[in-house]
Amino acid sequence: MSENDAVEGLRQVRESVRRAASDYGRDPAEITLVAVSKTFPAEAIEPVLAAGQRVFGENYVQEAKAKWPALRERYPDVELHMIGPLQSNKAKEAVELFDVIHTLDRPSLAEALAKEIARQGRRPRLLVQVNTGEEPQKGGVIPTEVDAFLEACRSRYALEIDGLMCIPPAEDPPSPHFALLNTIAKRHGLPWLSMGMSADFDAAIQLGATHVRVGSAIFGARPRPPK
Ligand SMILES: *Cc1c(COP(=O)(O)O)cnc(C)c1O
Repeated sequence: MSENDAVEGLRQVRESVRRAASDYGRDPAEITLVAVSKTFPAEAIEPVLAAGQRVFGENYVQEAKAKWPALRERYPDVELHMIGPLQSNKAKEAVELFDVIHTLDRPSLAEALAKEIARQGRRPRLLVQVNTGEEPQKGGVIPTEVDAFLEACRSRYALEIDGLMCIPPAEDPPSPHFALLNTIAKRHGLPWLSMGMSADFDAAIQLGATHVRVGSAIFGARPRPPK
């Protein structure tokens, strides 16, 4: 995909987000488009920055660290979101680099992030990932354990949580998962809902998404990761 294709992809996705907001009676200003740039090099991201996009998602700390500091020198108002699984031993770099972390899902990571936030005096916004499909290979807190985990984040680690994130199972219709995430967030008064990707962000917006994470619809197909 050429650079112009990514700019055209961005334009179309923005338009679809606006249309979905209007269809479902949502205020478009409540919906943040996170452009997922994982696996794409700085040269592919640059035109999307030049077209005005400022919020980006990455899955790997090392990759983000290699790409973003230089891009940020030219675009200091970039907001960087960590949307991939996070190892506790990467907490230091994650707190340094990211403005929002979507994948907090266990006490050891909460502890590591709390320690780095205190040490660095830098406080990324935090979302708890929920494994709504209870898939063993996927990160996230299972739905019945979310209440206890949120309580531990607040009382034991003094972490303020802004919302919830989910990735529905690939083989399921996504809407029941989005609805469940919305129900859990409401119960806890959490304002942010990170849900919806290229294939299903329309349904996610219908069910209350405040952050949609869209990669391939903007940047094109990603190469398959090596096995
Ligand atoms: C890669 C990824 C996305 C973007 O997926 P697309 O289908 O390319 O839009 C969104 N969220 C997470 C957690 C991802 O890993």
